Amino acid sequence: MLVVRKIKTLQHLLKTRCHNKSIGLVPTMGDLHEGHLSLIRRSIKENDRTIVSIFVNPIQFNQRKDYELYHRDEKNDLKKAKKEGVDLVFIPSVEELYPKDFQTFVTVAKMSKGLCGRSRPGHFKGVATVVLKLFHSVRPTRAYFGLKDFQQCRLIEQMVKDLNLPVKIVPCPIVREWDGLALSSRNRRLSPEQRQRATTIFSALQSVADLIKSKRSVSSNFLFRHFARHLRIKKEDRIEYMETVHPDTLEPLKKPKPPALLATAIWIGKTRLIDNLLVEK
Ligand code: AMP
Repeated sequence: MLVVRKIKTLQHLLKTRCHNKSIGLVPTMGDLHEGHLSLIRRSIKENDRTIVSIFVNPIQFNQRKDYELYHRDEKNDLKKAKKEGVDLVFIPSVEELYPKDFQTFVTVAKMSKGLCGRSRPGHFKGVATVVLKLFHSVRPTRAYFGLKDFQQCRLIEQMVKDLNLPVKIVPCPIVREWDGLALSSRNRRLSPEQRQRATTIFSALQSVADLIKSKRSVSSNFLFRHFARHLRIKKEDRIEYMETVHPDTLEPLKKPKPPALLATAIWIGKTRLIDNLLVEK
């Protein structure tokens, strides 16, 4: 497995060793867990070569502290990637991706506004910019994104469509713990009691989904109250949002019916967790 830190080296290797080969790209911020590994395994199955990028992208963090706190473990990540059979890991530095005079950004206008975009201004601009840079550096045939970050995945699909990028986006299902908690690098910040409370996010989403499927007409406000009642959270926790949106446009549905996406962000103490559930027809 090759470990590459410079774009020039990466492009040289791609030219000399991957000519006419299909390439799968799995963009990550490292701290690899089974969620990331599911994307990697799918890429290996579907492509001649698989490239994993590891980059904690400073411009997508709203708070400096959150960026600094982000857990990094390069050695362990490389071990896991090698075990899976990854061909190349691209680990650029911040200076490599954003040299001093960097000034070009990508905005996916409508889709960056709602859900996570509301409380994290600039977040999706940072995501779209880094992903476009990675696409240009790697020129992948396919790129793999987890539906855990549903809005991110849709936004990248929109960018690819709008800019006619020659890459196929492959959305991958959410990997969960046995008790329903969606795997996330942030779960390690939870205490055992917080972890327990966090598992109710998924069960509350499921309960809202059951309601949508069983009733003819129910308002989004009613669904929110139903969700809040089913969460087992404490005073120190907070629902940032729980919205019912159309899965294609991410626009809010007033009288939700399938297909609908239930998307939520919850603060368990000082840890922000996101999750979602698709209610299909
Ligand atoms: P991150 O390192 O958090 O930026 O995630 C890198 C990729 O892994 C993104 O496409 C995420 O959506 C995906 N991912 C993270 N957690 C999960 C999960 N639990 N299930 C599926 N995909 C995930």
